[in-house]
Amino acid sequence: MTRRVRMATLVATVAALAGCGEIGAPTRSDIYEWRIISTPDTLAFHWPREALPVRIWVQDIYDLPMHTQNAIDGWKSGFLYREWDAVLVSDSLDADVLVLSKFPNGPTILLGTVQECEGYTDLALDTDTKVLTLPIRIYAVPRYDPDLEATKACFGIVMYHEIGHAIGIFRHSPDPADIMYFNPTTATPTQRDFQTAEVLYHARTTVTATHADD
Ligand SMILES: [Zn+2]
Repeated sequence: MTRRVRMATLVATVAALAGCGEIGAPTRSDIYEWRIISTPDTLAFHWPREALPVRIWVQDIYDLPMHTQNAIDGWKSGFLYREWDAVLVSDSLDADVLVLSKFPNGPTILLGTVQECEGYTDLALDTDTKVLTLPIRIYAVPRYDPDLEATKACFGIVMYHEIGHAIGIFRHSPDPADIMYFNPTTATPTQRDFQTAEVLYHARTTVTATHADD
């Protein structure tokens, strides 16, 4: 059975009240769960080395190519041994990942009402064969005027977050500080985000990716 796994993100850039408190708080774990827990086996994926660089096609609107390139560069910088890489490509038919500015088909769950933009990542994942059919589809849509500074900042956050899913983080961090929190406020990944990505590239995978026409 192929089920669509859709991960929704809603970003509000306004409430970024810095809280550096937490001194003396218990030490957080260095990583969070990135796999989809399923029976009989978990669904875990990272791009094999021969698939790199991942080819990403981006709709040329709202500076999404720039935001996507920033996210690629930022995530790459967090890897210790160049375990992951991606490039923007001009041919959407040849892409592993598509970035589109429209709402995804099918039902969507609206989680809030005061966000400047929304992001979604759709994975076509067969839970029996554990095959991920490419391309991964990322959607990024404004909720207000796309020319507002807050909306532009929101797209920056959303692209970091959704590219994080495309790297292989198929879950959300439970920590609001992380870029992979479902409703992130940080502009870039935290050390925990980077360490999670690093660990997952050295962990066992159960999912293989293939193009629909292969
Ligand atoms: Zn997400």
